[in-house]
Amino acid sequence: MTTIVFVHAHPDDEASATACSMAIATDLGHRVVVIYATNGDHGEPATDLAEGETVVSRRRLEAQASAAATGAEIRWLDYADSGMAGWEQNDAEGSFHAASTDEAGGRLAAHFDELAPDVVVGYDFHGNYGHPDHVKVHHVVKRALDLHHGRPRYLEVTINRDLMRRQRQQAIDAGVDVGDWDVDQPMLDGHPIGTPEAELHWQVDGRAVIDRKRAALSAHASQTSDVGMMLAIPEDAFREGWGFEHYIEPALGEQPMRTAWPF
Ligand SMILES: [Zn+2]
Repeated sequence: MTTIVFVHAHPDDEASATACSMAIATDLGHRVVVIYATNGDHGEPATDLAEGETVVSRRRLEAQASAAATGAEIRWLDYADSGMAGWEQNDAEGSFHAASTDEAGGRLAAHFDELAPDVVVGYDFHGNYGHPDHVKVHHVVKRALDLHHGRPRYLEVTINRDLMRRQRQQAIDAGVDVGDWDVDQPMLDGHPIGTPEAELHWQVDGRAVIDRKRAALSAHASQTSDVGMMLAIPEDAFREGWGFEHYIEPALGEQPMRTAWPF
């Protein structure tokens, strides 16, 4: 049995980014643990919050429901969501963004020491699209690995920019209105989304478990715009677009991407 730890910024990132990989891993008998850096405080408030229920308590319940779909265990670093780039919440007391990399790295390393992971999965250098909490995950995971007393393999989940461009073109060719968003346009941090295929090492074909990814996303029901937008994609297009998950394994250096099981 392999212990695989996925570090994610917010509840729902595990569903969109790595749910297929996690579902396959648990089906194979591996231990999968998701560690959330933040509580998702600045997500959309559910419209049906009960008395005494908060955005955070609801999002924790949703994360548990998502974990039921993938078979993962979940843990929390317990930082506050930092909001989008430039928001005043970035620097709020207790926010992930305001925490020092050493402090947050130490908190995460304590989990690594206890879990003794064989593989740790963080984010690429710009957190796929420059969100401050996602970029911070990249740095905090690397710091935690320095502090941790084991030597797990280290992977970074990312988005395959070239695959996204090809699929967008296919949609245009099929007459689908995809709007004017361009995969090569700069995101929050000035870089285009994700990573070019030439810099990737692993492509996981998760199309066989795509229903588990849909279930994990559906669990985050309060996030109607982000998650709702993904769930609104027709099933065939969703399977072909989101059924593949992509990873960089920095230790592998320059190697062509393989469609294979990396864990
Ligand atoms: Zn996020």
